[in-house]
Amino acid sequence: MNIILFGPPGAGKGTQAKKLVDFYGIPQISTGDILRANVREGTELGLAAKAYMDKGELVPDNVLIGIIKNRLNEPDCKKGFILDGYPRTVPQADALAGILDEIEKPIDVVLNLEVADEELVERISGRLMCKCGASYHRTLNPPKKEGECDICGGEIFQRIDDQEDAVQNRLNVYKKQTQPLINYYSKQGILVTLNGARDIDEVFEDLKAILAKFA
Ligand code: ADP
Ligand code: ADP
Ligand code: ZN
Repeated sequence: MNIILFGPPGAGKGTQAKKLVDFYGIPQISTGDILRANVREGTELGLAAKAYMDKGELVPDNVLIGIIKNRLNEPDCKKGFILDGYPRTVPQADALAGILDEIEKPIDVVLNLEVADEELVERISGRLMCKCGASYHRTLNPPKKEGECDICGGEIFQRIDDQEDAVQNRLNVYKKQTQPLINYYSKQGILVTLNGARDIDEVFEDLKAILAKFA
């Protein structure tokens, strides 16, 4: 089952991806998590990406393509994968199509989580993250123990780009550069749009119902 989880920043892609990983046993490929790990480790990629990320801009298209290609060729992707946060531009979607053609793994479905802007701002500005990729919210989805990740016990923190200044820019960048992909995948007949502004578990039940025919 080869899935793209699609939606604006704060739509719940990461949250739902973690649940899908547990349920279906296929890996999540989050370009945001990969980039943040590189920033933390101070790699060349991380150094190149950090300034874009902190401002809420997209990192240039050519930066991620090699990473995605290598990742999709790893053995754990044989049974399927969940792309979270990739592609985000039409050139990225075209590049992805080329890679997937080569390895003969077409996308089954693009799951588009829809959430209104005000709710996105509330979610993003209260988001807390763990370096394992788990995300929480100060009030909407707090960890069981304050300051500590439920999954790995790690310390949770606020991302620089989740602070006020970058948030509106990220929504603008989404509308301008990423939203055109809705039409792109809709034309291919593989887009399914869901209401993402419901309880985490309700959204998850809906996702499972949609995915049942691909499992
Ligand atoms: P994305 O990966 O799409 O940017 P996240 O999964 O990180 O989004 O979720 C953004 C924020 O909203 C996090 O603080 C998360 O805990 C919270 N969140 C996710 N899904 C829901 C939901 N259905 N209802 C309320 N808050 C949610
Ligand atoms: P969110 O879901 O809240 O937008 P992500 O963790 O997916 O956050 O992405 C964080 C940042 O990492 C983005 O604002 C962007 O700078 C960079 N990034 C992640 N994925 C991509 C991508 N596919 N193309 C370009 N930049 C990306
Ligand atoms: Zn964790």
